[in-house]
Amino acid sequence: MSLLTIDDLVVEHRSPGRPVVRAVAGVSLDVRAGEVVGLVGESGCGKSTLARAVCGLNPITSGGISFEGHAVTPLGLRRRRLTGIQMVFQDPYASLNPRRRVGDQIADGLRTSGDTATRPADLLERVGLPREFAGRHPHEFSGGQRQRIAIARALAARPRLLIGDEPISALDASAQAQVATLMRDLAVESGAGLLFISHDLSVVRLIADRIAVMYLGRIVEAGDTAEVWANPRHPYTRALLGAIPAPDGLGVLPAELPGDVPDPADPPSGCRFHPRCPHVMDVCRVEDPVFGPVSCWLHADGIPSAPPEAGRPGTA
Ligand code: SF4
Repeated sequence: MSLLTIDDLVVEHRSPGRPVVRAVAGVSLDVRAGEVVGLVGESGCGKSTLARAVCGLNPITSGGISFEGHAVTPLGLRRRRLTGIQMVFQDPYASLNPRRRVGDQIADGLRTSGDTATRPADLLERVGLPREFAGRHPHEFSGGQRQRIAIARALAARPRLLIGDEPISALDASAQAQVATLMRDLAVESGAGLLFISHDLSVVRLIADRIAVMYLGRIVEAGDTAEVWANPRHPYTRALLGAIPAPDGLGVLPAELPGDVPDPADPPSGCRFHPRCPHVMDVCRVEDPVFGPVSCWLHADGIPSAPPEAGRPGTA
């Protein structure tokens, strides 16, 4: 059964005198208990806006988000602790209170969950840190250690859904895979779901059961991680995977793909990827391929409504 259901979600950013930015433009996704879903895409594609909406930190424009069958509505940080959803943020330096001992910060989560049996030091041990660290302050730790502390604090609230919003991007390469694997192990072990957001495909491949690839506010391809990795079908996914150095599988998204990066406030007509796509056809410039699991006219077989004939594969 689905723990989190995101249904045709739209999130727009509005500021006076500026064009509306549709950061999330009709995304549907679900996460089941005990499952790890990796959400990948370039910076600015809407991943973090989506994560914040799931936590109730961003108001939604249309569509819906439900967690354990209940609609998620915008919440303050204090009430968010009670929802069963916890988020680990990108910047471990900013997400911990520098003036409080880490044990006290972890104890806040234990109080929220009503857990009187677990000590903050127990959770530090679970994330691979010495128990005596509970008495220290955040500035005494490295980036990787702080992110482990942030994970311990999130786990203290006993979340049923853990969201990692680029939780490894500020870490050294050596700490990235360790922290990602730790998040996966702890989430799965406790029966929680994990939505892991990253621009690093190689790490997502290591930990995710399923993968969703996001481009300019839309999910363009989704599926079982091993299948997507072995047989990427959307040209954007292929470009991302193709940029990873072989044969060791290590690497991250390229800083730039060919073509211009579109302005999210003025997205291209038709397929949003068409100005950068090496396979663009006439239909791509006018008709939006909004079907799944691969949103691309090259993979339109079997969709219920026929696209325009002009420029479709096999019709030229
Ligand atoms: Fe490329 Fe067309 Fe597919 Fe878009 S719909 S990814 S432009 S082939």
